[in-house]
Amino acid sequence: MISNRELFLQNTAQTSNSPRLVEVEKAEGIYLYGPQGQRYMDLVSGFNVSNIGHRHPKVLAAIQDQLDKYLHVTVYGEFVQAPQVQFATKLLEVLPTSFASVYFTNSGAEAVEGSMKIAKKFTGRRQILAAEQAYHGSTQGALSLIGNDEYRNAYAPLLPEIDFIRFNDSTSLDKITQETASVIIETIQGEAGVRVPDQAFMHALRAKCDETGALLIFDEIQTGFGRTGKMFAFEHFDVVPDILMLAKGIGGGMPLGAFVARKEIMDVIKDNPMLGHITTFGGHPVSCAAARASLQVIQDEQLLNTVATKAALFRRLLNTAKIKEIRGLGLMMCLQLETFEQVYAVSNYCASEGLMIDWYLHCETALRIAPPLTITSEEIEKACKIILDGIEKFC
Ligand code: PLP
Repeated sequence: MISNRELFLQNTAQTSNSPRLVEVEKAEGIYLYGPQGQRYMDLVSGFNVSNIGHRHPKVLAAIQDQLDKYLHVTVYGEFVQAPQVQFATKLLEVLPTSFASVYFTNSGAEAVEGSMKIAKKFTGRRQILAAEQAYHGSTQGALSLIGNDEYRNAYAPLLPEIDFIRFNDSTSLDKITQETASVIIETIQGEAGVRVPDQAFMHALRAKCDETGALLIFDEIQTGFGRTGKMFAFEHFDVVPDILMLAKGIGGGMPLGAFVARKEIMDVIKDNPMLGHITTFGGHPVSCAAARASLQVIQDEQLLNTVATKAALFRRLLNTAKIKEIRGLGLMMCLQLETFEQVYAVSNYCASEGLMIDWYLHCETALRIAPPLTITSEEIEKACKIILDGIEKFC
């Protein structure tokens, strides 16, 4: 019989020549299980998705409840679907009051696409600025914002009138002018290898957008839903964007994205032309039911209060000169090594010892650490010991 691994290589599109090829039979809490009973501690959270762990019972119950009612019933924006309405309302409750309208999508990249469209339409301008080394997704609009020539050039021509500022460098903010529709920026850059900006840059960015009338759009697709110890990373900087883009951790493991804005900004979408931005599956009722339950879990289990202590424990235990730098905020962390070969060898060693870690798209010389926020101190101790053993062996 042909194995699933062979069928994967044969029949499903490959996104690289070196897939991880770990077969998953089941996932529960912070663990992934293979078909031969292998167990891996998941320190990647399915790439910042499983913030409350895999298959949280409350999320499963909400999904089951919705399965008994309805699945897809119509395209987004027509029928009143309680899971969408209830989750949008709950989401707005944890956001600053300026946010008043939620548009649900299937993914992060689609949230980026929608945000770019409303920014252009609201301002009547066309230029969009992003940051060098940014990652906002792989659709052609989102790819236009990727701050990396290699990825952009491979699929050029992309969107016109896109330019780049340097992340966390206030001297490059002069590029924001009265021609600029919006500045789209990750609140903390993820794929660049977890770059945390300073307060001064974030305040200067907000001020420059206010001065020029450009809309400030934060991508919290990786940083959202407690990852950094606040519900949203912008809360660390005391700066509120005009549009907020969400996905990944929003759905408790189900596919969902959203962009959220002030009402007058979002309202540009509904006419001239009507139905100018629509989606069939965006805001799927099962995903929205899961998302509402997941947000409730973050609140009920008071997960935000535990993140800083857990992050401090990681930093204390990962104490070796062979790690050049530990960057990050909360449980969005990055261990800077020297070469990709070291990163590859250490992550393979960790996998062989039952620990899943990874690296970053634009920073292949650093290890990615982003465990479910539910990880315990004992599990952190165990994980750090394996990582240190790997670093000792291969660096
Ligand atoms: N924005 C950021 C910061 C991301 O990390 C990602 C995905 O990794 C995206 C956008 C795109 O999200 P999706 O893969 O759901 O389209």
